[in-house]
Amino acid sequence: MRERLVVVGGGIAGLAAAHAARAAKPASELEILLLEADDQLGGKARSYREDDWLVEEGPTGYLDTEPVMDRLVALAGLTKRPADKAAARRFLVRDGVLREIEAHPLKFFASGILSPFALARLTLEPFIAKRVDPTEESAFDFAARRLGRQAAERLISPMVLGVYAGDAKRISLPAAFPKMAELEREYGSLVRALISKKRKRTSSGGGPAGPGGELCSFDDGLQSFLRALGERGEFDVRTSSPVDLLAHDGECWRVRSAGEPLRADRVVLATEAWTAKTLLTDLLPDAARALAEIHVPHVAVVALGYGPEAAQLTPRGFGALIQRSGGLRSLGVLWDTNLFAHRGPNDSILMRAMVGGRTDPEAAQLSDDELLTLVESELARLLHLPAPPTFRHVKRWPLAIPQYELGHLDLARRVREDLARSNAKRPGLQLAGNYLDGVAFAKAAASGWRAGAGEQ
Ligand SMILES: Cc1cc2nc3c(=O)[nH]c(=O)nc-3n(C[C@H](O)[C@H](O)[C@H](O)COP(=O)(O)OP(=O)(O)OC[C@H]3O[C@@H](n4cnc5c(N)ncnc54)[C@H](O)[C@@H]3O)c2cc1C
Repeated sequence: MRERLVVVGGGIAGLAAAHAARAAKPASELEILLLEADDQLGGKARSYREDDWLVEEGPTGYLDTEPVMDRLVALAGLTKRPADKAAARRFLVRDGVLREIEAHPLKFFASGILSPFALARLTLEPFIAKRVDPTEESAFDFAARRLGRQAAERLISPMVLGVYAGDAKRISLPAAFPKMAELEREYGSLVRALISKKRKRTSSGGGPAGPGGELCSFDDGLQSFLRALGERGEFDVRTSSPVDLLAHDGECWRVRSAGEPLRADRVVLATEAWTAKTLLTDLLPDAARALAEIHVPHVAVVALGYGPEAAQLTPRGFGALIQRSGGLRSLGVLWDTNLFAHRGPNDSILMRAMVGGRTDPEAAQLSDDELLTLVESELARLLHLPAPPTFRHVKRWPLAIPQYELGHLDLARRVREDLARSNAKRPGLQLAGNYLDGVAFAKAAASGWRAGAGEQ
């Protein structure tokens, strides 16, 4: 009999797992069945089309930092589309005023983002001793220690809000920003690390993507990539097939999906943390308890489309991070059509703001109309927009982005240890997704690929 793998979850982690398993074994040896609860593939990658507007309800795109992404794009038969170079320009709202985050030190000093005292403090960074305490440190405390408190408040907190809808004082630096922690360990200073890396890039002729990678998507949006991965995969896909039971009968795995019992030799559980927690309660109680500790806030994505006048008034750039004390409730705003022009009609501009998250859960409870009014008025004030938007769309994610908060490293270790104990007794279970090794889309893809290839 052929071996059978069941993959639970049709987001990027599950689809990557199914493709990796197929790459490792042909159909004559391995049958693969992917089960997705929803009526479509994609998970958080959800692209909504209305007239000429294309709204990414979840991720804007992915950073091409993970080598597996190019392999998956080739398997999907698509061509990735890098974001426009305008994406390099980033802005920050402080005291209700939009300011560019300049890369050049002199221009940055003149931008008004930091006070002269805080700028002086920033220059001390190379002389701050590296931390030897092995306990987890918050992103805020790390930034305050190395860059000064004002830089932590005005730069790092808005960045954590804009990227994770998270609270920098709770987010764990080594769990959420492992590269930062590594730079301090390796170079003793972020400034020294930057200089050294710049030298290395220059001497090696530089790289197109830079250290943070290049933001990419697809002409028809990110979800088209997941659909293509499903269509072109040499495996069976069943949508509208929620799994509500996972068990082991001593010989093989038993999965129940939409009432149907299924047998499996291997299972990759590629769902969100909270579904994994429920399915694992009896099998891996320690892991389930650890997963229950992950906080996942409610986030609303508010998309507004404007005509040419607003497009002219908005700077060419990625978007703006927003400092909390400025009175705005939007966590950050992206100018989508600056990044990918085809996301709106010619000469128009599509903006997306995130609302809610870890620091303002009440805002995500507002009605759709209230959310639209809130974001519309905030953007009008910020950018001096003369006319209201002609397109409006709201998407809610009651459980959006898992927060890697203090204690996350320990929590992830408990999950892995319980999984290893379980696999020693009854082999064949793997976990994939964005709740252990990185919240970003490409990280979820890489975790899925590893699980499907049996590398976990
Ligand atoms: C608003 C928002 C903005 C984001 N922006 C970015 C960004 O710009 N860049 C970036 O890199 N990342 C971003 N992310 C994160 C990124 O979207 C995720 O990390 C990634 O999509 C997670 O993929 P996944 O496959 O692990 O999980 P998911 O995409 O959540 O997929 C899990 C799948 O499992 C299915 N499932 C759940 N339970 C069951 C069950 N019982 N049976 C069967 N199927 C089940 C779900 O329906 C879902 O389809 C964003 C996330 C959100 C919410």
